[in-house]
Amino acid sequence: LISLKGIGKRFGTHAALQGIDLDVAAGSVVVLIGPSGSGKSTLIRCINGLVRPDEGSLTVAGRAVDIYDEGAWQGLRTQIGMVFQDYALFPHLSILRNMTLTPQRRRKLPRAVAEDEARKLLARIGLAHKADDYPSALSGGQQQRVAIVRALAMQPKAILFDEPTSALDPETITSVLDVMRALAREGTTMVVVTHEMGFAREVADRVVFMADGRIVEQGPPAEFFANPQHERTRAFLSNIR
Ligand code: ATP
Ligand code: MG
Repeated sequence: LISLKGIGKRFGTHAALQGIDLDVAAGSVVVLIGPSGSGKSTLIRCINGLVRPDEGSLTVAGRAVDIYDEGAWQGLRTQIGMVFQDYALFPHLSILRNMTLTPQRRRKLPRAVAEDEARKLLARIGLAHKADDYPSALSGGQQQRVAIVRALAMQPKAILFDEPTSALDPETITSVLDVMRALAREGTTMVVVTHEMGFAREVADRVVFMADGRIVEQGPPAEFFANPQHERTRAFLSNIR
């Protein structure tokens, strides 16, 4: 579904990404791990144009994205959802409005239809009763679950997650991971940057380890965790376990 070839990105003289080749099959879950500064956020941001790569090629759903064409990135943004560490809900809008704003604008849904869909999605995460509240009235975990179904409301081809549970306390982490697990079971294509190795083991189809802007190795979780091939990967894994 998503294919990156030779993607590179520099910030000034610093090469944040170099020679990234990555394929994400439709319906699969790819978990990205690696030390701080290794380029994980930069990489997933390149998939939806929040960061523009300097070189390489990107194909989404069989279509090549011209990395130098602004219009191509705009189109991509509506097809690829993104969930951030800090939820990024609009603070001045109700939960319902947070959910309906982009579907009304980009999917051209009439308000009533968008609201109906939004309420169903909120019911799914047990938050239908919060529809008229503002984000500040919700806990971190509740806000993050809203952010996930808000992404889903765009019916994206894939959803990118950048450390979705890193800002949450341990009890609420579970509630967010449960929603992500459910999406994975339903066949949602997901690329997830996370430090939750339990989630990676259990849910990922493939784990990708990055260091210094490069992909060092990748594989199915069972193999990857049992038998890492590179010293760099072993060092990283021994530090987090
Ligand atoms: P973390 O685990 O801390 O989130 P990361 O793997 O997500 O790290 P990135 O945020 O992708 O790492 O950053 C990769 C490198 O690129 C880092 O050296 C970072 O300082 C640099 N970098 C990222 N974004 C920018 C930017 N907008 N301007 C300049 N340098 C940047
Ligand atoms: Mg990051």
